[in-house]
Amino acid sequence: MDAADRIRENILAVRQRIADAAQRSRRHATDIHLIAVTKYVDAATTALVVQAGCLDLGESRPQSLWAKADELAPLPQIRWHQIGHMQRNKLNRTVPYLHLLHAVDSLRLLTAVDTASAAANRILPVLMEVNISGDQSKSGFAPHDVAAALEQAANLKNLKVQGLMGMASLTGGNETARRNFIALRELRDQLTANCPDGVQLDQLSMGMSGDYEVAIEEGATMVRIGSALFDGVGH
Ligand SMILES: *Cc1c(COP(=O)(O)O)cnc(C)c1O
Repeated sequence: MDAADRIRENILAVRQRIADAAQRSRRHATDIHLIAVTKYVDAATTALVVQAGCLDLGESRPQSLWAKADELAPLPQIRWHQIGHMQRNKLNRTVPYLHLLHAVDSLRLLTAVDTASAAANRILPVLMEVNISGDQSKSGFAPHDVAAALEQAANLKNLKVQGLMGMASLTGGNETARRNFIALRELRDQLTANCPDGVQLDQLSMGMSGDYEVAIEEGATMVRIGSALFDGVGH
């Protein structure tokens, strides 16, 4: 089987599992968006993902996002998601490409995003990254700092918060992952109760290849899936 067929099959299998997880939790599969994480593969292989019908693509390094977006400019229907840590000095160059920035992880970055978005003449959709695993090596706001960050975001005119993003602990398996995802959903529900004007928390970006079904069962609206799509493709 060639790479195109393999990727098409992998995407179909993932979409089926997304639908099954949605059904188990009495949700609609159409409310869950698959973000194909293409950081492992080159632009040509990324194009196969697009041809297989997956238009939301995620990259963790801004430099890779720029390079791929430029190379794939002939496919203008792609929506680019920056899912990894964003350095402030790369914002000006990155913002014009983005559909959604998933990883606002500090107040300094939040302010810088507003400035870069103003320069790009945009109102940029963003998610606040929350460190739900408590792992010191992970980025993200501590859960108790998110409310203050949302207050600050509400005063910034060139971005709009649409939700929260989190990563489960890499150790502890699905049980730990489920606890982390529940914590993010509960934090969202609690923050929604007195959310500042202009801030929305509808989106929950959580779940990767190893834990996306659990994430969907616990309320994910976006799952960021990489390795499962490239199984057997030889990258
Ligand atoms: C790499 C990455 C993913 C995808 O991980 P897989 O396990 O390959 O599906 C999701 N989210 C972030 C932030 C990542 O860096």
